[in-house]
Amino acid sequence: MPSSSAPLIAWTEKGLYCAAGDFYIDPSRAVDTAIVTHAHSDHARRGSRRYICESSSTRLLKARLGQKIEVTGIPYRQSFRLGEVEVSLHSAGHILGSAQVRVQRGSEIWVASGDYKREHDPSCEPFESVPCDTFITEATFGTPKYQWPKDRQHGKELHDWWMQNAKAGRNSILFGYSLGKAQRILAELAPHADRPVFIHQSIDELTQCYRDEGRVLAATTSLDDLEAQSTLQGELILAPPSILKSEWLTRLGEFQTAFASGWMQGSSFMHQDTYDHGFVMSDHADWNDLNRTIKESGASQVFVQHRNGALVRHCRKLGLDAHPEIALMPENYRKLPPVNLSMLSMLK
Ligand SMILES: [Zn+2]
Ligand SMILES: [Zn+2]
Repeated sequence: MPSSSAPLIAWTEKGLYCAAGDFYIDPSRAVDTAIVTHAHSDHARRGSRRYICESSSTRLLKARLGQKIEVTGIPYRQSFRLGEVEVSLHSAGHILGSAQVRVQRGSEIWVASGDYKREHDPSCEPFESVPCDTFITEATFGTPKYQWPKDRQHGKELHDWWMQNAKAGRNSILFGYSLGKAQRILAELAPHADRPVFIHQSIDELTQCYRDEGRVLAATTSLDDLEAQSTLQGELILAPPSILKSEWLTRLGEFQTAFASGWMQGSSFMHQDTYDHGFVMSDHADWNDLNRTIKESGASQVFVQHRNGALVRHCRKLGLDAHPEIALMPENYRKLPPVNLSMLSMLK
């Protein structure tokens, strides 16, 4: 049960820190022990003495931070002890090996979500709801304007776009983050594609990590393997946006471009003017799924990371003890009113 003396997981200038276990979660600087929720660069940073991550994330972490890092892979749901606490990792459904971190001291249970989504994604394990007293949730898309259409057939939509362009003799260039989104696109395309997808070199090694972990992806050919004089027609190219400024452009002939991202929803997004087409395809929970996840956690105390205003206010309306993550600084946490648990369970 939450106490208002010292937070089990505190917010510090290096990131979330559990003093009882002496470890950080996704530290922003080099530390002794770093539990890394997933291999995206804003979560996995260089320089720490040792890393702990979910087993299927170890290859990605090494690809990102160097083969020589000291890293321990722990399978989902297997608990291990650090100092005075029991820790376990639970799927966040965000990218391959992405994990929520569950920390238990006595009967008190905290969960830090990292990035997560609830939508189906064939490139990683589905999200697992983890009951807890205190839930630290991300809220990248934490306002009601972000609501993803449900039951989308991403693979079919992507493939239809590709085929339409191919019929007109054009190539299709699809942009997405090189880790996570690119491999999700390849997994979504796997049942549809009847020829290889061309991928940029920056995507190649990470894609191999997914295959090594047994993920089924559409066949790929590296753009670098293309003979110097050859040009493409009717092909799908998966690449980072920088390709638009590269020598590749002359070899790609006529083409259409598209971007796959949650940010494609909403009118303010600058990319809407830059690309011919946008696929709303997010690796984060939308507003409804953030709320659903908070509810399913059963937590009476909620801390919100990133975009926190609307979600904190909404949780408070529902009777939850909700705060932006800065309230997890020990000096702020002490000032929080004690949680009346019986009141909250009545409201749930
Ligand atoms: Zn991420
Ligand atoms: Zn992130």
